[in-house]
Amino acid sequence: HIAVIGSTNIDFVVHVARFAQPGETLHVHSSTTGLGGKGANQAIAVARLGQEVALAGWTGRDMLADMARTTLEQARVNTRWLMEDPAAGTGRAFITIDHAGENQILVDGGANMRHGAEAASRLVPALDHAILVMMQMEMPPALMLEMARQARARAIPVMLDPAPVPAGGLPEDLYALADILTPNERETRDLTGIEPTDETTALQAARILHARGVRTAIIKLGHRGVAYSAPDGQGFVPPFHVRAVDTVAAGDCFNAGLACALARGAAIGEAVRFAAACGALATTRPGAAQAAPDGKEVAALLDR
Ligand code: ADP
Repeated sequence: HIAVIGSTNIDFVVHVARFAQPGETLHVHSSTTGLGGKGANQAIAVARLGQEVALAGWTGRDMLADMARTTLEQARVNTRWLMEDPAAGTGRAFITIDHAGENQILVDGGANMRHGAEAASRLVPALDHAILVMMQMEMPPALMLEMARQARARAIPVMLDPAPVPAGGLPEDLYALADILTPNERETRDLTGIEPTDETTALQAARILHARGVRTAIIKLGHRGVAYSAPDGQGFVPPFHVRAVDTVAAGDCFNAGLACALARGAAIGEAVRFAAACGALATTRPGAAQAAPDGKEVAALLDR
């Protein structure tokens, strides 16, 4: 299986004509409640592609935890290592989207953020027989660092999505433990100081990441495409032309596609192309994990 070590949230999404002013009450256009968190999103996107996957992390012990677990299990994500913390609330995000598609997001990490390096031993069983580990930064950096060490000790490749970049930057030792690092434009700028806008600037940023010990750097440039730099080659994959309606979780679906392709032994260039097709398809539908494509859809876009 692929092991995802990451966050589980419930997202409260509200669509409004305009954002409320302080002290103001507005009626919203519509609202939804659903599963979110980068860990859960990536796990569901992997499952949608037909690959066995387990999500390891924490929820609280509350109604939201039941909702999260049910949604994950319906999507065929193994939740055996998704633990309940009775002393914390399940992570939640409050997302407001206005008519222009601008958003305001407030996050209460809750149970996701309560366990540091000392809790790693509780997640380590998820690494048994794993072929690849996916991580993001919606849990404490010290925990992610320890889990990356545990994966390296077992020779399991680590794919790290440095999202969001922690206030103090990534822990220095984490770079060399990242077999694959997948920053988007903003994260690339935060990590390297370089604003990646095309292949040349993205590969410049990748060189900085290599110097810190990253093996393969994959720079996601949104609608501009994606650049990659690996020991066995570098290149650029232009974006697939799709009608984008909602770019939420494009990066999560991209990472899921990349993990699945690499897990079945694809070469890096082919894996990035497969991932880019997954990211593009995710933008054609609203929502996070529920926008993730299945293998047939990806194959159809790749053949088009
Ligand atoms: P994140 O969601 O982490 O910000 P990006 O927005 O960079 O990530 O999207 C990840 C990948 O998904 C991109 O590198 C690209 O391959 C694909 N993608 C994203 N937006 C589009 C789009 N509008 N059209 C085509 N492909 C897209």
